[in-house]
Amino acid sequence: MTTTVRVPAKINLHLGVGAPREDGFHPLVTVYQAVGLYDDLTAAEAPDWRFGITVADHIEPGSVPTDGDNIVDHAADLLAAHHGIERTGDVLVTKAIPVAGGMAGGSADAAAALVALDRLWDAETSDDDLLGLAAQLGSDVPFALFGGTALGVGRGELVTPVVDTGTWWWVVVPSAEGLSTPEVYRHFDELFPDAPAEPPAADGLLAALASRDPHQLGALLHNDLQAAACDLRPDLEALIERGEAAGAIRGLVSGSGPTVVFLCESGDHARAVAGSLDESVVLVANGPVAGAHVVHYDTSG
Ligand code: ATP
Repeated sequence: MTTTVRVPAKINLHLGVGAPREDGFHPLVTVYQAVGLYDDLTAAEAPDWRFGITVADHIEPGSVPTDGDNIVDHAADLLAAHHGIERTGDVLVTKAIPVAGGMAGGSADAAAALVALDRLWDAETSDDDLLGLAAQLGSDVPFALFGGTALGVGRGELVTPVVDTGTWWWVVVPSAEGLSTPEVYRHFDELFPDAPAEPPAADGLLAALASRDPHQLGALLHNDLQAAACDLRPDLEALIERGEAAGAIRGLVSGSGPTVVFLCESGDHARAVAGSLDESVVLVANGPVAGAHVVHYDTSG
């Protein structure tokens, strides 16, 4: 048996960050959107556990661990332990989501692994259990199962879908060099020692989503980590200015960065803005799209 699960990248349309909690996590109010940049994870039956990865041209080979410490290995361990079974399978990830880019590529692969291995092992994990395991693997993993557009609270793992009937077009500019998410949060704490306990709410942005008007949405995009990311990587601010000067409605650091996304009016507009940027990798994606989903299933292999 072989199954392939496709899983999208996320961007944060709103990322409100509060002062660190006692457990060290920052409370978040975030609005995630799944966008059409995907990793595929194929799992086939095997007598033991094997894991491999192939990467798209814009991803540095070797930037993702294959030594047993990949988040996919951890997802498999967790699901196997949940069912009291042995971890087996031949798993290959085909990666196109930028690594350490603030687009939750690792979380996406963890979600894909849960869905694919649940099928491969005929484990019939309930949705609630799958979401619980996802939250243990990382704050962004439950959203990768949901996809669409959703509100995330807690540390981002408590996810509720929101109304979003629009189609939003994004230019996505990854960076050759990643940024460490913990480092960006540490710098946020240095820059904002008086951050409020309650992160800023997303009510205005949710109303803008329902309007389906990209200019309304553009005015309300918000990322509390942007100042920290731009301080660590001053080139990001200049990139945002270039994209906005090229006609994008609004540029924003994605999550903890360094990927920058630009909201555009339409697919044609996004392709025009992308064409006028001279960065080495410029992608166009639309959202919202579905979360982790099966795209191939073959019982003969
Ligand atoms: P987030 O937005 O959730 O903070 P990110 O997009 O910034 O995540 P990831 O691409 O998830 O970052 O990778 C963070 C680190 O996790 C990488 O530097 C890499 O070493 C490690 N990692 C482990 N497994 C994976 C995986 N399957 N894909 C990508 N990175 C992985």
